[in-house]
Amino acid sequence: MPDLDTKTLQEYDRKYVWHPFTQMRDWEAEPPVVITRGEGCYLVDSDGNRYLDGVASIWTNVHGHCRREINDAIKAQVDRIEHSTQLGLANDQAAILAKRLVEIAPAGLCKVFYSDNGSTAVEIGIKMAFQYQQHRGATRKTKFISFVNAYHGDTIGAVSVGGIDLFHGVFRPLLFPTILAPSPYCYRCELCPEQDSDMCGRLCLAELERLMAAHADETAGLVIEPLVQGAGGMIVHPPGFLKRVRELCDRHDILMIADEVAVGFGRTGTMFACQQEGVTPDIMALSKGITAGYLPLAATMATQKVYDAFLGDYRELKTFFHGHTFTGNPIACATALASLDLFETDRLLDSLPPKIDYLRARLTALEELSHVGNVRQCGMLGGIELVRNKADKKPYPWEERVGMRVCQEAKKHGLFLRPLGNTIVVFPPLVITLDELKFLMDGIETSIRAVT
Ligand code: PLP
Repeated sequence: MPDLDTKTLQEYDRKYVWHPFTQMRDWEAEPPVVITRGEGCYLVDSDGNRYLDGVASIWTNVHGHCRREINDAIKAQVDRIEHSTQLGLANDQAAILAKRLVEIAPAGLCKVFYSDNGSTAVEIGIKMAFQYQQHRGATRKTKFISFVNAYHGDTIGAVSVGGIDLFHGVFRPLLFPTILAPSPYCYRCELCPEQDSDMCGRLCLAELERLMAAHADETAGLVIEPLVQGAGGMIVHPPGFLKRVRELCDRHDILMIADEVAVGFGRTGTMFACQQEGVTPDIMALSKGITAGYLPLAATMATQKVYDAFLGDYRELKTFFHGHTFTGNPIACATALASLDLFETDRLLDSLPPKIDYLRARLTALEELSHVGNVRQCGMLGGIELVRNKADKKPYPWEERVGMRVCQEAKKHGLFLRPLGNTIVVFPPLVITLDELKFLMDGIETSIRAVT
C-alpha cells in the first residue's frame, strides 16, 4: 500500500480512532500529528517533522526507536515462528527470557508468569496473592492495601487498587474495596504540613502500620509502585520508605506486590527500583520497558513460597486458573532478550549517572521559575509541578489545562511531551545523549516560561 498523505491519515484517525484518556471532542477539533517513523530518540511525523520523544512513548522506550539490533532480532524470530501457545507447550524464547529475568531480578524472585500489558501483570499479581492466601487456609485474607495517588492500570482489578479519583472514581461501584494508605507526597502531604520528607515518610508509615495492624486478618496483599508513583504525578517517595513497607508486610503477614511496570528496566538508575533499597517483593509486575518499548509483553514474577502454594493434586484445584492467548509470545520474548543484550553491550546502566546528574541540575534550576511549585526526580525520570501560586501552592484549575498547554507549546520547539495534570513529565529513552537531554530541558524551560 502506498504511503498516504497527511491529510488522509488525519482524516482516517479523526473519523475512526477512539484515543485513550482523551476527550474526543477536543481531539477532533484539531488535526493530529501522525507519527510514521522513529529514529533514535526522535519521532518523525508524516510531514517529516522531528520531535524528541520526551516521554519515551509512554514510558516504554529504552534504547531509542528503530534500533538495528532489536529490529534484526525481531526479523530473525519472525522467520522462525510468530506464535505458539503456552497451554501445553513451551517455547524457546519464553524459556530463555524467564531464565534471564530471574538472573537480573531481586534475589528470590524465581518464577515468571507472562502476559501482555502492565495492567494484567498487576491483576495477575493480585489474583496470585488472593489465591495464595486461600490455599494456605487464610481464607479471610481477601482484601488489598494500596496507596492514595496509586496507578496500577485500567482493568477492573488494577483500577480497584488505584488511588486517583479522577481516573478511578466513576468505576467505584464496579470495584472490589481496597484499603488506601496515605501517599508520601511530601509537597502536599496531608499528614505533615512542614514539607519535610523524613517527617512525611515517618507519618505515612505510622498510618500504614495502623491500617495493617487493624486489617491484617483480612488483607491478602499490598500493592506499591516502588520509589515513584508514576501517573499520580511522578511522586518520589522518601528514601527508606519501600524498605520499611517490606518490613511491615512481613510483620503483618501480607504479601508485597511491587508494580515495576513504569520503573523497571533501568529507569531509576538500577535495573529494578526495588534493588535500590535491597527489597525483594513476593510478587513483581513488569511490562513497558521489558521489550524496550517495541511490543506488548508483561511478566509477573513470584517467589518460590508463592509458587509452591499452587502445587498439588489436580483435584485440589490449586492450579492458577489464569492465562491470555498471547502469553509468552516468542517475537515479544525475542525482543526482550535483544533489549537485555543491549543493556550489556551498551553498558547502559553505567552510562546513566552523568545524565541523572545533569537532569537533577536542570530540574533544580527550574524551581526558580515563578510557577514551578515543586520538582521531583528519581534517576532518569522527573516531574515538574506547575502551580498558580507558589506561596500557598494553589494549583492551576484542572480546566485551564496548563500542563497540556505547555506540552502543546513544546511541540513548536521540537519536543513531544505528555503531562500528568499540572505536572510536566520528563521520561526520555534511557539512551538519550547529554546534548539531546539539554535540548529537551531547554525546550521544557522555554515552554513553561511561555505558558505560565
Ligand atoms: N502500573 C504502572 C505503575 C503504570 O505506570 C502503568 C501504566 O502507565 C500500568 C501499571 C498499566 O500498564 P498498561 O498501560 O500497559 O496496562
